[in-house]
Amino acid sequence: MPHLTAARGLGADRDTLSLAPLVRATPTQLLGRALLLRCPHCGGRGLFASFFTLKQQCPTCGLRIERGESDYFVGAYLFNLIAVELILFFVVCGMVFVTWPDVPWDALTYIAGALMLAGCVLCYPFAKTTWLAVDLALRPLTPEELRWHHEGGDLGDRELPQL
Ligand SMILES: [Zn+2]
Repeated sequence: MPHLTAARGLGADRDTLSLAPLVRATPTQLLGRALLLRCPHCGGRGLFASFFTLKQQCPTCGLRIERGESDYFVGAYLFNLIAVELILFFVVCGMVFVTWPDVPWDALTYIAGALMLAGCVLCYPFAKTTWLAVDLALRPLTPEELRWHHEGGDLGDRELPQL
């Protein structure tokens, strides 16, 4: 397997980044990997430096997590909001359904508030990897783009058709 040795740019170990032929994952594989907090593209581990902080590149395949775009994770914030709202919807409706007609409205109010705050925190890393998976499903990674990620190129010097 050939390796990239003369790359410049972001923090991954350049000597270990694989330039093996690109194998396109199915949307189900992309989402499954994302929900396991793995790289949706290659399935590699170690995308997160901490619970809230993504590394700049996948340590396995070299894909830059934000695909070189500074506002990339606005979509992840949207996914996080949607996930928390869905959790709230099902919990509140479930509690109302189970306790009807004596719904504990005060308790439900506090539970919903606590759930909303906890959900935002707990769903955050999943929202980021899921957004990357959806983006890779809609704009598949090409060998040219992956090479660009390995080289740490800027958007200005890039002539890839999908961006
Ligand atoms: Zn990867």
